[in-house]
Amino acid sequence: MSLDTTRSAELAARASRVIPGGVNSPVRAYGSVGGTPRFLVSGRGAYVTDVDGNEYVDLVASWGPALLGHAHPAVVDAVQQAASRGLGFGASVPQEAELAEEIIARMPDVERLRLVSTGTEATMTAIRLARGATGRPLIVKFAGHYHGHSDGLLAEAGSGLATLAMPGSAGVTAETAGQTLVLPYNDLAALEAAFAEHGERIAAIITESAAANMGVVLPQPGFTAAMIELAHRNGALVIVDEVLTGFRASRSGYWGIEQERVPAGVAPDLFTFGKVVGGGLPLAALGGRAEIMDLLAPLGPVYQAGTLSGNPLAVAAGLTTLRHADDDAYRALGHAADTVADEVAGALTGAGVPFSLQRAGTLFSVVFGDFAEAPRDYATVQQQNVAQHRAFFHAMLDAGINLPPSAFEAWFVTAAHDDAALERIAAALPAAARAAAAV
Ligand code: PLP
Repeated sequence: MSLDTTRSAELAARASRVIPGGVNSPVRAYGSVGGTPRFLVSGRGAYVTDVDGNEYVDLVASWGPALLGHAHPAVVDAVQQAASRGLGFGASVPQEAELAEEIIARMPDVERLRLVSTGTEATMTAIRLARGATGRPLIVKFAGHYHGHSDGLLAEAGSGLATLAMPGSAGVTAETAGQTLVLPYNDLAALEAAFAEHGERIAAIITESAAANMGVVLPQPGFTAAMIELAHRNGALVIVDEVLTGFRASRSGYWGIEQERVPAGVAPDLFTFGKVVGGGLPLAALGGRAEIMDLLAPLGPVYQAGTLSGNPLAVAAGLTTLRHADDDAYRALGHAADTVADEVAGALTGAGVPFSLQRAGTLFSVVFGDFAEAPRDYATVQQQNVAQHRAFFHAMLDAGINLPPSAFEAWFVTAAHDDAALERIAAALPAAARAAAAV
């Protein structure tokens, strides 16, 4: 039986009269799943509540930031205290360096860090920095990876563009698009060919640490190390985008997992962070080797600035989130991810629905379809059965489970997903799996 969503429907109609598509970020419109987008009014721990009073176990977690769960008391308290001292000054505040130190302590390859407000800004600045450092124009990105919505990074991007089946964006000039080489992920031969042809013009490769905006697609064993070595042999830099995976896939992001597998001394030059580092408020960062980061103004010739960069409320939320993201929190996240992943797999198998489930630490996703092996690239992910996802999504939503409204997004657990929340998810899964089987 469907939930009462009268007020959400009214608000969607009202919003669509004044906001394009009724939303301020496309995936929220439920375009690929249909139905009434939920207007949420509160969240606590593992739960969110919509404007009609329906409560859901949340597996979106604000698309990542809510690592500790919604409205974690310590985070809310830190933000309230910061707010009581002033909302922002456009000057440095003491906690900015503390946040940078906290991040650097988790990421040994990061020596300097600059705070910005969104992941888009972080990757945009990292690319400008790579071009400034190398004096070269071209950027390599992988199909299905999403790095925010700056012009040069929208070609064959994941996330909302994958959801809407858009190959790129209107409004990007051919000149700008031509500065980005888009290659299939996990294809070392394609990368070698690109460097053979354009090697001296490539400034950087940008890659998600593990792809997670076309669902989770892991780097194949050896791929990341070979990519870094190839780039460095050719004088290019590597930007590892941890906006989504950072401090979520593990304490040190997906790089913390990958690092164990790469030869000593092989490391990216720059990293980008977002989501968890802002604890739910607008904050992101880029960091890396000092000799490259110090090219940023005011020390160097690469310009970057922001009225709201290092905003004290956002810094307070991020710092408190990271300080509470301790071993216990990662154990809880791991347990929640294990439990949900195992139960989804069991329910789909039980209902005879073919699927592939990939995990990047505590981050995971499910794609529907009969894949001989776990998808390694965007072309394969695009063959998934989106109609089955839609049926599954709505059955879960009706049962009070809020999944990402897209077949191309990862699922996000929080450290607050306790047994009661996990049991509610488990109880909803068999019927949702049967709904997918009936498609
Ligand atoms: N990079 C990655 C890997 C992301 O997942 C995202 C957003 O989902 C971004 C960059 C862009 O971040 P923002 O939405 O904060 O601009």
